[in-house]
Amino acid sequence: TKFEHCKLPPKMTDNLQQVGYLQPTEIQMQVIPTVLVGRDILASAQTGSGKTAAFLIPIIIHTWTISQFREGKGGPYAIIMAPTRELCSQIEALAKKMITGLQNMKTALIVGGIPISNQIHRLKKGVQIVIATPGRLLDIMNQYEELIMTNNHMFVIDEVDMMFKMGFENQVNEIIEKMTSSSKGRLQILMFSATIPDNIEKQANLLLHDHIKITV
Ligand code: AMP
Repeated sequence: TKFEHCKLPPKMTDNLQQVGYLQPTEIQMQVIPTVLVGRDILASAQTGSGKTAAFLIPIIIHTWTISQFREGKGGPYAIIMAPTRELCSQIEALAKKMITGLQNMKTALIVGGIPISNQIHRLKKGVQIVIATPGRLLDIMNQYEELIMTNNHMFVIDEVDMMFKMGFENQVNEIIEKMTSSSKGRLQILMFSATIPDNIEKQANLLLHDHIKITV
């Protein structure tokens, strides 16, 4: 399989070529079509497997389609949560490369250490994809619920095992529950973890909807 044979938004195949992605990795081959048909997933994938693009590609395809109808308003349509600021910045950097030249596509980085007012301002102007750490995301969800949750329907939790190790377990569960109850339609949840110990498996069974388990 090559990316040029896949149905991607115009420019996106070029953007993938620019970053040197010509054909999907194993995890991308399993994750991308599964997410595009709307399924929840629990994927075990190590750093280095290409997991970032595995969730970014279907998210961009999906949010780009919606955004064309809404002319860039009404987002975010997807929220990606990762344990650290650095990881969030890396994810946003790759997302930006992939959406270069695509109309009505913007990202927002919602992490600590940056004034919350700047982030609120950016959300108000309209973004399609949010990349966030748990603490700041929860702050904004609590203070500005309508700004971030109303139209969101894709939620990625990257490096779940790392988040749990860092002590974010309760926050993560609170975020998922809040988000599930306040998004208008069904929320599609994608969980990624290097390993899947029993407690994560249990959480996934509780919080995800009829999910598909992917292991590479
Ligand atoms: P990740 O597991 O997301 O941290 O990605 C690991 C490395 O693989 C990164 O340097 C990516 O840029 C690279 N990568 C991801 N997908 C592809 C692909 N389809 N083709 C070539 N390199 C890739």
